[in-house]
Amino acid sequence: MLRTHKVRCYPNATMQLTLKQACDYRRYCYNQALATWNDMYDESVILEDKHLRPNERKVRDELVANKADWQFSRSARILQLAVHDVAQAWKNFFNPKMPDHAKPRFKSRKHSHQVFKTDRATIVAGKLRLDKPLDYQGPWYGIRLAETPRWEGTIRLATIVEEADGYYVSLSIEVEQPKPLPASERVCGVDANIGKYVYNDGDTMTSLPVLTAKLISLYDRISLYQRQLARKRRANPGHFLSKHYRATKTKLRRAYQKVTRIQNDLLQKLTTMLVRSNGTIAIEDLDAKHMKMNKRLAKNLHRSLFGRFKVLMQDKATWYGRTLVLVDRFFPSTQQCSHCGVVKTGVDKLTLAGNQYHHTKHHEFHCYGCGIRLDRDQNAVLNLIQYAQGQAMSS
Ligand SMILES: [Zn+2]
Repeated sequence: MLRTHKVRCYPNATMQLTLKQACDYRRYCYNQALATWNDMYDESVILEDKHLRPNERKVRDELVANKADWQFSRSARILQLAVHDVAQAWKNFFNPKMPDHAKPRFKSRKHSHQVFKTDRATIVAGKLRLDKPLDYQGPWYGIRLAETPRWEGTIRLATIVEEADGYYVSLSIEVEQPKPLPASERVCGVDANIGKYVYNDGDTMTSLPVLTAKLISLYDRISLYQRQLARKRRANPGHFLSKHYRATKTKLRRAYQKVTRIQNDLLQKLTTMLVRSNGTIAIEDLDAKHMKMNKRLAKNLHRSLFGRFKVLMQDKATWYGRTLVLVDRFFPSTQQCSHCGVVKTGVDKLTLAGNQYHHTKHHEFHCYGCGIRLDRDQNAVLNLIQYAQGQAMSS
């Protein structure tokens, strides 16, 4: 099983230059591969010959055969992995299960992350050693890491990325499955909402805010910096890479970095806590929830981290040997009464604004079957728990 650990790294001046070049080279290879792919495809359409369609191997062979001299002083793995990523991007684009995946695009230096990948990195004497290219002249150093990787095993992939305050490496390490946690009978339901996650800790309901005051102030600052940058671009088109522009841009990147860190911390702690203390966890198929909501809410939805939550839960449940129940997208967790099972229909339905016909508010759940009055999120959590218990019975 693959586990990933992201570690801060401190390259020396020589290696900093090498990393910068490697990022540029990766982008160059990606763009070359995409252009070659497109050309091959166009050719196959014009000649009406399906055998001419591009694939990973054909594009790679084409690029390798046409390598310029300078390319031999760069890592060959970067080219291979860039071609692989182009092929994967096309595959994802045509995958009906990934409707949000955009068409592969050319990467520009200005708008894309400074990143590259290699699958030949090793750790020698506590330092990260990248694969030295064939024709590379000059000294080659190991890169100091801020901490030793959390997992022991073979490094399958190292992704090096430049962030606002320096370089980081994500190490994907092949690890054997550890002992799963002791079995637990506890069942938990998680209702992911805009701005908060509601779940049960045994019999008590807990609510975890994901849009904290700190995050909201950071978002405000981000939009301020973005306005400032836009104004600078308008005032000084052509060469807006002035000192002030770059300073503001750095502030913007720092603010984004802080947001990511706070969110990561929140999500990692929540998901670990959930799998540690429960045997079965029921979550909604959040993609479906995503789609039901309108565009105006899309931003705050994105900020509520639905996508990452689901991925982390799936990952951790497999890792710790827990049962994750993905609740069916047509299951009416909001409309059903957890007490008597009556499902609201027609004018009784609960919307995000509450119910206008019965004059109830957003957070109120009033059952017109048995008369029970519950909190909307609590009711949803109880429904999820019952769904998970029903699944366990039928299997
Ligand atoms: Zn009821």
